[in-house]
Amino acid sequence: MTDFTQEALVLDAGDPLAFLRDRFELPLAADGSPAIYLCGNSLGPMPKGARDEIAAVLTRWSTLAVRGHHEGDYPWLVYHKRFSASLARLTGAHESEVVAMNTLTVNLHLLLASFYEPTSHRHRILIEEGAFPSDRHAVASQILWHNRRVDESLIEVSPSTLDGVWQTDDLIEKIDAAGDTLALVLLPGVQYRNGQVLDIARLTAAAHRVGARIGFDLAHAVGNVPLNLHDHAVDFAVWCHYKYLCSGPGAVGGAFIHDRHAHAAGLKRLTGWWGHDLATRFRMGPEFHATAGADGWQLSNPPILSLAPLAAALAIFDEAGMTRMRAKSNALDTFARRVIAAHCGSHIQILTPSDEASRGCQLSLRVVAGREYGRRVFQRLEALGVIGDWREPDVIRLAPMPLYTRFADVDAAISRLAEALADA
Ligand SMILES: *Cc1c(COP(=O)(O)O)cnc(C)c1O
Repeated sequence: MTDFTQEALVLDAGDPLAFLRDRFELPLAADGSPAIYLCGNSLGPMPKGARDEIAAVLTRWSTLAVRGHHEGDYPWLVYHKRFSASLARLTGAHESEVVAMNTLTVNLHLLLASFYEPTSHRHRILIEEGAFPSDRHAVASQILWHNRRVDESLIEVSPSTLDGVWQTDDLIEKIDAAGDTLALVLLPGVQYRNGQVLDIARLTAAAHRVGARIGFDLAHAVGNVPLNLHDHAVDFAVWCHYKYLCSGPGAVGGAFIHDRHAHAAGLKRLTGWWGHDLATRFRMGPEFHATAGADGWQLSNPPILSLAPLAAALAIFDEAGMTRMRAKSNALDTFARRVIAAHCGSHIQILTPSDEASRGCQLSLRVVAGREYGRRVFQRLEALGVIGDWREPDVIRLAPMPLYTRFADVDAAISRLAEALADA
């Protein structure tokens, strides 16, 4: 037993969240043995309670059919309300500011429709270079939708330092430089490739200083790091529930619209009947009267079967609490970095910044020797039962997640990484 293995056992024994691991069905490796699952930043594992939640919907469908819209514990008409309190806690929002609906990219388009209102002078959108493709597609197509040119209206900011980390001051400098030509800033809460946590408070203040609006893609942030969207005065945010939030493949996504917008009459939006005030929705009149708050951005009768697993997942997050999750996440990360330094030495460069404020659950590990070797290392690691993911050209992402990852898993995963580095 190595010193790290012993230390991991002690840390696991003292872990106040250890009992939550049993709430999940954790995936198996290709050979059927239990895997070390470090890929919850891509698709979270299944909460055991998800089976019951889906079964409950099926039972209500079979026994109540159309009456299920109005009867029972969670009538389908207001089913999405089940999640408001938990989502508000996770995002630092008021309940009226958050809604589970659609999927991430759809929500991004809906909110860009409301928040991107280019004029001949103020028409630019600032994003990070190398943004998640869907986000870039969304903003580029919105620019075209408004009959503008992407090369004139899109600003993509690359990191100014060689380590690939975005400095908040640099981003703010770019925001200031765009000044009154800037209509909108769209940035990630956590960058998907290097796992960097961005400074939402300062970036939001900077965007507002130049008169721009700011939205955040929280795909990798929600359920990972504490968020405070309301107090930071973020204009809007979108996220998915299938990554850290463990709500299943293609789970319904989420959206935040700050109260100061959600109740204002001025903001344009694309509308559908599910956003119409429930009190008068079924009078089926031609005029649209928005439900107050984020709920008013809903379009359609939602997919209840895809919403159901959120209940099982969010219950676990509520039980854990972000304070405890964050403390364990930091400890897992610190431990992982020490084991990597000891076992993998100069073969691995950690791209994720090391200061606590800038790191979440994810470690992005660059295989220094390059793509071909790196791919072999990754495949070998998978064969050894460690599930992470590969990002071109040379990055292995591993995400120790405090709800189900043990310190012993981190120790074993890094030992196997060292083995893979030696074998590949
Ligand atoms: C995962 C992810 C998405 C995925 O979008 P979907 O619409 O859910 O397919 C988009 N943006 C970012 C930054 C992501 O990490």
